[in-house]
Amino acid sequence: MEPVVLRVGVFGGAFDPPHRGHVALAQTALQQLQLDVLHAIPTGQAWHKSRDLTAGEHRLAMTRLAFEGIDRVQVDAREIARSGPSYTVDTLTELQAAYPQAQLYLLVGEDQAQALPTWHRWQALVRLAIICVAARADHTGATGQFDALKSLLPDLRILKMPPLAISATDIRRRLAHHENVIPLVFEPVARYIDHHHLYQAS
Ligand code: ATP
Repeated sequence: MEPVVLRVGVFGGAFDPPHRGHVALAQTALQQLQLDVLHAIPTGQAWHKSRDLTAGEHRLAMTRLAFEGIDRVQVDAREIARSGPSYTVDTLTELQAAYPQAQLYLLVGEDQAQALPTWHRWQALVRLAIICVAARADHTGATGQFDALKSLLPDLRILKMPPLAISATDIRRRLAHHENVIPLVFEPVARYIDHHHLYQAS
């Protein structure tokens, strides 16, 4: 009999704040990749984001609220707890050690997938996990948009989900202008933001 290989999803992000686009991507991946578990991992110090992120404790708390009640999702604090820059390759190495028999699947949106060849030790990274990409509404949307990536990563998986025009940048902008963000984030996250006065213009 073939040994059963555990299917472990890995979904990292600034989650500043986590929104419905993130949750939709996670749910699509759980279903289409038949994942046994999905680690949702707020990044620590993101080396590739030019702005300062909201404190890790807040992003972690909001990520827990956003994914609350979604079966098989584990919100994982390892990158927030780690000192120094957050490198996905280090996280995948740790998870591969934690699940020695598993196949890892790294979930990324289109923008991150395009940037992947600039990531720290990306060639080691793509040997550790199968890359799974979801289209984003604010990107080209053209057919063949993933062809260049496919030639680099023959194992690339495309997640089939309708693109959602939601970004954390837009949500932060709306909050700074005191606009409603309820259609874009889940209510518990909106309440947390409100309670902690996050994303208000200084
Ligand atoms: P920001 O606008 O601050 O850059 P973001 O909305 O892109 O934030 P991140 O936390 O940076 O959110 O994203 C984490 C991961 O989720 C990335 O791989 C990103 O591409 C993906 N992602 C975010 N929003 C969507 C969306 N609406 N559809 C598909 N993928 C998404």
